[in-house]
Amino acid sequence: MTEKFRAFWLEESEGKVTGSIKEIGTEDLPQGEVLIRVRYSDVNYKDGLASIKEGRVVREYPFVPGIDLAGEVIASEDSRFAAGDQVLCTGYGLGVSHFGGYSEQARVPADWLIKLPQGLSAREAMILGTAGFTAGMSVEAILRAGITPDSGPVLVTGASGGVGSVAVAILAKLGFEVTASSGKEQEWELLKKLGAARTVSREEAQAPSKGPLGKGTWAAIVDPVGGAGTGERLKTIAYRGVLALSGLTGGGDFGTSVHPFILRGVTLAGIDSVQCPVPLRLDVWKKLAGEWKPDAVFEQAVHELTLEQLPDALSRILKGQAVGRQLVKVS
Ligand code: NDP
Repeated sequence: MTEKFRAFWLEESEGKVTGSIKEIGTEDLPQGEVLIRVRYSDVNYKDGLASIKEGRVVREYPFVPGIDLAGEVIASEDSRFAAGDQVLCTGYGLGVSHFGGYSEQARVPADWLIKLPQGLSAREAMILGTAGFTAGMSVEAILRAGITPDSGPVLVTGASGGVGSVAVAILAKLGFEVTASSGKEQEWELLKKLGAARTVSREEAQAPSKGPLGKGTWAAIVDPVGGAGTGERLKTIAYRGVLALSGLTGGGDFGTSVHPFILRGVTLAGIDSVQCPVPLRLDVWKKLAGEWKPDAVFEQAVHELTLEQLPDALSRILKGQAVGRQLVKVS
């Protein structure tokens, strides 16, 4: 008989999905070249969506969610990895079409894995997770466009959330003057501790303005919120500024006109962490482990959970109530 281990198991009954801890074995795991002892995972908005049928992230239940994992290799059929290697996996099909990180053991394709970058522990990697990586990709897009702290102030929306909180900390560490927009006034103090120079309400960050352009205030915007507000925010970007768009907690659609693009040369940078090409993936993780390492997040904005506490955490993130990063200690 194979060794049993614990996993957070989602099952569907009468159209409703519920999760509980179940003992499973490697024979229950999907195909892949590398078997991993998962030490840490985390909670992202997409994990919340995976835990409800209406989220339309997972096609078939029963399912083990968790879009991120970090741990060590138990066995590998791929020459790039060997037993004992410290690895991390985010994106691709993990926790969406392939059993994910909420399991003491996971088996994944070698192409999805990277070795933990020097300077980052498995715990720190999962405090960052997909949300932190997405924040890193957003910062990379802004810097690649030539924006520097001298270009002017930057805005981060959804700042108390996962992507937002890490973006605030990285940009502040790099010397940017950061304005953090958050609907949670009680978290404004935390945002200051993460490095925000100013805090504003959600309404202020998406106030509808008449006409095709507003005041060109922001050198760049990190926007994991999306929705109608994104159209308004595009009007407030300064000449040759960038809006790095990664999310949809505020909605999936926005309207805009050509004016920010043809009169101010604004760039709308789409951020996708899931299929991010490996060279960029490695580069962003290396920076997150080094010069961008957002120490303030590790010190101020981490809530550590067990597998048993996942149902609450998943429902909180769906309600927009999660603050900072939710780390899951798996084994
Ligand atoms: P969180 O829930 O941690 O953060 C989202 C934040 O958005 C909330 O904390 C809240 O911040 C704000 N918010 C919530 N509801 C609303 C609303 N109705 N209107 C305006 N703001 C709202 O999620 P994550 O940080 O994990 O993810 C953020 C978004 O980014 C999600 O849509 C997710 O799917 C997307 N994402 C995309 C990735 C990609 O590859 N493109 C990868 C990772 C995430 P506050 O209260 O401070 O305003």
